[in-house]
Order: sequence, then C-alpha cells, then structure tokens
Amino acid sequence: MKPDQIGLELSVVPSIRPSVAVLDLRLRGTKFVTLQPRSVLNSPTQTGMEYWSINPYVGCEFGCTYCYARYAHRYVVERAHDAGKLTDQEFAEYRGAHGWEAFENRIFVKEQILGALDADLRRFFKVQQPDGDIEAIVIGTATDPYQPAERRFRLTRAVLERLAKYEGLSVGIITKSPLVARDRDVLLRLQERNDLQIHVSLITADAKLARKLEARSPIPAARLRALKKLTDAGVNAGLIIAPVLPGITDDVPSLTKLFVAARAAGARFIHAGALRLYPAIRDRFMPILGEHFPDLLPRYEKAYKGQGAAPRDYAKALARRVKTLQRKHGFPVNDGMVDRYRVKRRPAQGSLELRGSLL
Ligand code: SF4
Repeated sequence: MKPDQIGLELSVVPSIRPSVAVLDLRLRGTKFVTLQPRSVLNSPTQTGMEYWSINPYVGCEFGCTYCYARYAHRYVVERAHDAGKLTDQEFAEYRGAHGWEAFENRIFVKEQILGALDADLRRFFKVQQPDGDIEAIVIGTATDPYQPAERRFRLTRAVLERLAKYEGLSVGIITKSPLVARDRDVLLRLQERNDLQIHVSLITADAKLARKLEARSPIPAARLRALKKLTDAGVNAGLIIAPVLPGITDDVPSLTKLFVAARAAGARFIHAGALRLYPAIRDRFMPILGEHFPDLLPRYEKAYKGQGAAPRDYAKALARRVKTLQRKHGFPVNDGMVDRYRVKRRPAQGSLELRGSLL
C-alpha cells in the first residue's frame, strides 16, 4: 500500500457541519474537507494574471517551504469564518498555530466542480474577443492539481475530461506530481484539438536538497520519469524550474543538471523564474533558510527588503543565464515563465537594492 492510500481505510468521518464536511482523514493527520464554490475558473481580473486559472484543491500536502499559495488557503478560511461557516474553534484548527500549517494538512476539495466549471466556461467564452487569441487557462496556479488528494477525488481528471470536449483552448498544467502521467489518455485527447503545455515542476535534481525545502514532494527522479512518460506518449510537456533560489539552486552546475535531465526525459521546453518572497511565504521559508543556509539569511533579507519580487538586476541576470542554457541544450529560448503565463499586475517594487548580486 502506498503511503497516501493508508488513510483511505479511515475515511468514514462524520461532518463537522454541512459546510465543512470531512471527506477523508489520513494517518498523518491530514483532513480533506468539502468546499462548494459557485465559481472555479478565476478570471485575469480576479487574480491579476494574464490567464484564467483553475485550482481543484485549496491547500497542498507537498508543503514546499517557498510556496506562495498559502495566502489562498488563509483567505478561504478567513472568509468562511467571517461568513459564520466556521466556529472560532474550527477557525483556529483550519488556520494552524502560525497561520500556515493548515495549508499542508487541511485540504479543501472543490466538490461538484463540474457544475461550477460549466457555468464559468459560458462566461469565459462570452468575454473572448471574436478575432483575438483565446486566453490561456492554467490548472494548478495556487495548489498542485495532482497532489495526493487527486488520487482519490479525481477532480483534475474530471476538469480535463470536460475541457477535452472543447476545441481551440490553450491549457497549461503545473505540477510536481508523477500522478499527472496517469492522465496521458485524456491529455492526448485534449491536445488533439487544443493547445496544451504540461509543466513538470522541479527546482533541483538533488533529492536531499529538495527534501530540505519541500516537506513531502515527490523525489526528483519520480518527476523526471513522469515527464518522460508524458513525452514518450506524445504529450507536449516540459520542465518548469520555479522558484530558482538565489545562492542555492541558481549556479550553473545545478541548473545544468536540470537541463541535462530534462533533455533526457524528452522535455520540449524549459521555463524558469526567480523566488518571490511575499509575506505569506516569509513566515515559512525564512526559518528554513536560516536553519540550512544561515549565511544566506542576511543576504535574502537585504535583497527582498520591502518587496516580494526578486530584485530586477538579479532577475535579469538569471534570465540571461537561463537563455544561455536553453541555447546550449537545444531548447526554445524564451523569457522564462513570463513568456507564456505573464503576470499582468506586478506587485509594487520597493527599493531595488541588490548590491553584490547573489549570482
Ligand atoms: S507543490 Fe506547489 S502548491 Fe504544493 S506546496 Fe509545493 S509549491 Fe505549493
């Protein structure tokens, strides 16, 4: 039995109350609770991104320390509390002692996602320009769509099945999970009449380093094997190296290992982007940085002072490095993540004071 199947034996758990029914409970303590949103396809206006996005789950068991999606979980919990759907006691549980733990072990499952998606897609098509490109839909912008929950609830697969009935869409998926290879059949169907890009996410080929930074993510070799399965099947898939961590994973030898591994796995493209250090990330990430890389702590504090985005000089230097590697290893040259899934409204830049670049 695989670890993430253990808890299925314990799955008969009574609802706390109708709005937050517990669907499953794992031995590790993870609870899966139902969420029934009226809308699941977020528009660019709602998110500030240039694309539409779908996240079948809120929260993610992989627990990457640098994950910027913790804010989304906090938002859902605070809204439910404000609306009287969570008691104070439940609010404390669903938020966690420091406000970030529950993101990893209180996972909201968007049940009945297809009903909401159908209504959203009608809205989506209505606002597309008749003569312009159809805007992209990205699955997995705020939580991993193939996290362990997907093995049981299969919401991502259901979404893909629905999207495969359309044509002319531009669909992206971002995941760290080898489970994505399970859906090769529906991905190939979707790809027949739509533009599809699967981004397998990997920040380092070093399994020990990955474990320091990502509490429960699949090991790098498993992700690369999944990438190979996808490309062998003919699915348009590549690697996304994000976030690149200054002074930790941004050196040429480390990046080269990823480019070589991606090439061997048949990746069609590679995107990369530097760490964004927003407030919701700092609480979780900075103590880990201090524990494993104490020398870097003051440098990060200085470089990201007053801003979430990486300093402009650093981002430019990283983009140059990535482009050089793309050329060298025979990948299409692009501007990293911004090439396809561009952030429309950038957070305000504070003082860009990176002296003595981390590169
Ligand atoms: S896999 Fe993605 S969504 Fe999940 S914790 Fe890691 S960065 Fe966040």
